[in-house]
Amino acid sequence: MAKSIPELYGSLVFNDRVMKDKLPKDIYKALRKTIENNTHLELDVANSVAVAMKEWAVENGATHFTHWFQPMTGFTAEKHDSFISPTGDGEVIMEFSGKELVKGEPDASSFPSGGLRATFEARGYTAWDPTSPAFIKDKTLYIPTAFCSYSGEALDKKTPLLRSMEALSHEATKMLHLLGQKDVTSVSTTVGPEQEYFLIDKEMFKLRKDLIFTGRTLLGALPPKGQEMEDHYFGALKPRVAAYMQDLDEELWKLGIPAKTKHNEVAPAQHELAPVFDTTNVAVDHNQLTMEIMKKVADRHGFVCLLHEKPFDGINGSGKHNNWSMSTNTGVNLLEPGKTPAENTQFLVFLAAVIAAVDDYADLMRVSVASAGNDHRLGANEAPPAIVSIFLGDELSAVVDAIEQDKLFQNQQQVAMEIGATVLPHFFKDTTDRNRTSPFAFTGNKFEFRMLGSSISVAGPNIVLNTAVAEVLSQFYEKLKDVPEADLQNKVHALVKETIVAHKRIIFNGNGYTDEWVAEAEKRGLYNLKSTPEALAAFVADKNVKLFTSHKIFSETEIQSRHEILLESYCKTLHIEAKTLASMMTQEFLPAVMRYTDELAASIMEKKSVANLPCTAQTKSLTSLMEAYEKMSELTDKLVADTETAESMEDMEKLAFFYHDTILADMDEIRSIADKVETKLPTDVLPYPTYEEMLFYV
Ligand code: ADP
Ligand code: MG
Repeated sequence: MAKSIPELYGSLVFNDRVMKDKLPKDIYKALRKTIENNTHLELDVANSVAVAMKEWAVENGATHFTHWFQPMTGFTAEKHDSFISPTGDGEVIMEFSGKELVKGEPDASSFPSGGLRATFEARGYTAWDPTSPAFIKDKTLYIPTAFCSYSGEALDKKTPLLRSMEALSHEATKMLHLLGQKDVTSVSTTVGPEQEYFLIDKEMFKLRKDLIFTGRTLLGALPPKGQEMEDHYFGALKPRVAAYMQDLDEELWKLGIPAKTKHNEVAPAQHELAPVFDTTNVAVDHNQLTMEIMKKVADRHGFVCLLHEKPFDGINGSGKHNNWSMSTNTGVNLLEPGKTPAENTQFLVFLAAVIAAVDDYADLMRVSVASAGNDHRLGANEAPPAIVSIFLGDELSAVVDAIEQDKLFQNQQQVAMEIGATVLPHFFKDTTDRNRTSPFAFTGNKFEFRMLGSSISVAGPNIVLNTAVAEVLSQFYEKLKDVPEADLQNKVHALVKETIVAHKRIIFNGNGYTDEWVAEAEKRGLYNLKSTPEALAAFVADKNVKLFTSHKIFSETEIQSRHEILLESYCKTLHIEAKTLASMMTQEFLPAVMRYTDELAASIMEKKSVANLPCTAQTKSLTSLMEAYEKMSELTDKLVADTETAESMEDMEKLAFFYHDTILADMDEIRSIADKVETKLPTDVLPYPTYEEMLFYV
């Protein structure tokens, strides 16, 4: 009989229930303490946990184990070892020690280090993160780990993420103690990432070099119908897609990933999946797994799942909304407007801290979502603009205005209230469309960072957010720590007001897609970092290096190495795109045009000689296609030559700009002609499927 969902849920996870069940009481307690207080795991505890974990894993069909980690590329990495240990008499036993659980030594030399390891040790090690549970996938026990060099440099995304969560917890707890919440001992950040994706037919995918090599189409004319009718959004799921989603949900549930919402998105063939939120590091692990499993399950259903930010030009791309909040160990969401005046004050302090943090580090927020793929979305009237701003909604904005102007706040029932002395209303999220244009929106009891591309790890943006908010909270603390108790309430309110006055330029409730906003944002002095090469420079700006180093998130060398990796990855992506487009043009598109024009020319000759027909339309079509052919050949040659120039350039920063300014422009120019030509060719001429076939025939 099929398992019920509660039975299925988490059945492949070494979760609290299994631990309680399998571990001796004292060991279980010691492990819980480690998890809750983030303390060191003793070797005897580790040994005992390892035995239980192995037993459970083997019972559930596992033969191997792996330290699973998140290198700086955005993917996840793993190296599998089997549990078997020969006993010397031709037999084996299944073994797994505490040492193997706690620490692994993958051969790190093939992971990007941005020059880090050259200056330090050649090898790195992985260390178990006991706050993220182990799980079984593909007959392997997966142990979530952090990846460091022997001298302690982070070589992954997990380590700085954990550091940033620690920094925020430290500063937020200090602030809460000051505000009288003495029972709070830690604060964790929570994240719920909404994931968008496309599904296309596997057989069609296999025929397109661009999708295979770059994840996006580099050529392709829009079908007669795109997304203008908006009939796909929340429309009925097609049976094949529904079957996929059901299978996907089950796979995710087994791994304890709380997949909750699924629906179609705006574009044809586009869908979304959202889990229930979790502690940030768990949410990050889960999102990485979700992306992987989306692809795997797609394959079983004859689909390919595209996670690229812009698979189809002219059709909405895919993003990821990072819903974010802070929550105390006593279960209080710090971005929940209060039910008592004291809770109000607390809400306003943390709200002000987020506003200041986003304003002070808007450039870093932009850096945290920068990639070649996401450049196609940000500022293209489908995703938030490249300018970071905050949406508060009408009601909360009225509260903020009242604070700024020392006025009473009038709620919708027209009851005047003194802020701080009374209870704030609960702010419901603004569901109007313009809300969608904001990069960073308050949605009731959390903020939603909407600039993320669909394929990136959510670690990066959360590292920035956590650290920036930690920094502002520490500044707040410095200003308040010596204030006498009797005066505290007043001083806190003065600080909130002062912060709002200083940072209100970042608040914008209007339509972010308009040119007026771009001009207005410039007047306000906000950043508008349009492309990845432009944005990346901000990563190494003095104020940002200071932020990261002072909170011990990254050392200066770690920042330099990450900057280099981001630049390199941008250049490599465009390099592959340029080579792929050149090869599609030379080997597929131009030959197709040539074959068709040959046919056309022969047909004209024949008709003229047999019946002396004028063939006016045919001749016109032949001439215009051949003119386009000449132009496209020329432009393809230029693309190839420019790509060769790029290959000889050394300065990585200059190279990134060269790819952006020259190579991308070459590619756009070729495409603009080719896409027009495509609409003039008979459907059977192209050796690969069109947009129409890929987007509408599933
Ligand atoms: P939307 O209308 O944008 O889909 P939802 O209310 O459905 O908004 O929530 C979207 C995501 O936000 C979900 O993953 C949800 O679990 C998450 N979320 C809700 N509350 C919080 C919170 N306090 N912290 C982080 N994420 C949260
Ligand atoms: Mg959303």
